[in-house]
Amino acid sequence: MQHVYSIFVYSSLFVYFLLYCSQAHVSSSSSDFLCPVCNKVFPLQRMLTRHLKCHSLVKRHPCRFCGKGFNDTFDLKRHMRTHTGIRPYRCELCEKAFTQRCSLESHLRKIHGVRQQYAYRQRRSKIFVCEDCGFTSGRPDEYFIHVREHHPGSPALRRYYRKHIPERMATAADQNIHPFILYQPASFFI
Ligand SMILES: [Zn+2]
Ligand SMILES: [Zn+2]
Ligand SMILES: [Zn+2]
Ligand SMILES: [Zn+2]
Repeated sequence: MQHVYSIFVYSSLFVYFLLYCSQAHVSSSSSDFLCPVCNKVFPLQRMLTRHLKCHSLVKRHPCRFCGKGFNDTFDLKRHMRTHTGIRPYRCELCEKAFTQRCSLESHLRKIHGVRQQYAYRQRRSKIFVCEDCGFTSGRPDEYFIHVREHHPGSPALRRYYRKHIPERMATAADQNIHPFILYQPASFFI
């Protein structure tokens, strides 16, 4: 347990170290953000920060279908859709559906000649996708109610609690979920 914890701390420090290296680089040259490990360039700091996690040694989020580990829940979701076949991004102009937003966007552009209305760096509206059945919603509360009612044992529920509901409120909000399930130690994922 102690050993696992040290790896986790080491790994987090390593990511901070990488972040430090990349910032040193940025100030000396352009406005782009360079990964000091693989030299990939990112237009935004948050994109680099997210990317740096992929060089971390500890994979915190395992795929429940094949056990492959990911550092980023975004990457995990994208990967899990190869197992589930869930395609939440539907083209409104034809019947096609896609696993990722960027695939839908390139489809719209190439097949229907639709131009994106928003600026490249602008954040787009988020959709919440149930990775168990493909249900989608633009509202986090609606998504939460869906998962709680249809998939009470889903790991997505625990992730949602950790992310959106403070500890005290979580137990009050849903007495059916045992605190142990909600707050497993990080080592559980390693
Ligand atoms: Zn890299
Ligand atoms: Zn998998
Ligand atoms: Zn289409
Ligand atoms: Zn569902």
